[in-house]
Amino acid sequence: MKAGVVYAKNDIRYDDIEKPSAGPGKVLIKVKYTGICGSDVPRVNADACHFFPNVLGHEFSGTIEEIGDGVTSLKPGDRVAGVPLVPCMKCEDCQKGNYSLCKHYSFIGSREYGSFAQYVVVPEKNAVKFEDEVSFEQGAFFEPATVALHGLQRCDYTGGKTVAILGGGTIGMLTMQWAKIFGAAKVVVFDIAKERLDLGMRLGADAVINTLEEDYIEQAMSLTDGKGYDYVYETAGNTITMKMAFQLAANKAEVCFIGTPTRELSFTVSEWENMNRKEFKLTGSWMSYSAPFPGKEWELTAHYFKTGQLKFDDSFIYKKLGLSQIAEGFELFKTPGAVKGKILIDSES
Ligand SMILES: [Zn+2]
Ligand SMILES: [Zn+2]
Repeated sequence: MKAGVVYAKNDIRYDDIEKPSAGPGKVLIKVKYTGICGSDVPRVNADACHFFPNVLGHEFSGTIEEIGDGVTSLKPGDRVAGVPLVPCMKCEDCQKGNYSLCKHYSFIGSREYGSFAQYVVVPEKNAVKFEDEVSFEQGAFFEPATVALHGLQRCDYTGGKTVAILGGGTIGMLTMQWAKIFGAAKVVVFDIAKERLDLGMRLGADAVINTLEEDYIEQAMSLTDGKGYDYVYETAGNTITMKMAFQLAANKAEVCFIGTPTRELSFTVSEWENMNRKEFKLTGSWMSYSAPFPGKEWELTAHYFKTGQLKFDDSFIYKKLGLSQIAEGFELFKTPGAVKGKILIDSES
């Protein structure tokens, strides 16, 4: 079969490798789309690849081609989204259902061969079925959608409250929609790009705020009668938005950092002291799993994509490239800011 094989740093090639088959308890998926994740980029363009040769790709959709012995929940032809984490299921964290925290995990598309290929093999539980109403493009967005929902629920989230979403990227847009689905009174998206803010409104935000505007804090506060936000979700991993989260939180708020930081950051005393003075709770979020594996994050993504309440916008996709063009996809990331949205690799072209 064809695959995008990483042979060394800066060396990913469209090449022939052996087609795998479904072993016991596993399924063979004929891959349709795979998103290039931010975490894939340094595995090709820098030194983050675990071994060579390797086949990356972990945000994917496809159809079941073949099932191994003992597989009961899936059959050939089923449309599925890939679940990349393969937790050990034995450690204390796994036994508590905190699969994202497992330290003995495998991961499809980094520690074992992934979906930048025509076929990929995964354990039965690592394929989540979705209905015909859900497109294969959406199937490749299950992972980010579940990351957003897991983040939302890291707070004791209840409806009827005010929510700030910091960062209008894909995770921000999905978190905003989950906040609405679970009954927010008001959700406000913060970003610097007009097109992201427009998208936020299209997808159902109650208001958007451009943080390049000088008085954006006043605008933000006036939307909550000066109280600040009951829930603040940081989705950019950016120093500015992380500090903004501390500022926008209401008294007794809950703040969750979903975005992962990329550089060292420091707070002034008065910035940090917000947490003391407002007694807000701060937490982080990592991946998207819960018990029973892979968790309600995945089930609810399939459900709400089907009902259409979780909206998908074509602008989530920056570009579609054939598997044979995969090197080009990674090349695009070498120009800072060039990739605006997800690059989807089509394994059928
Ligand atoms: Zn990813
Ligand atoms: Zn474990």
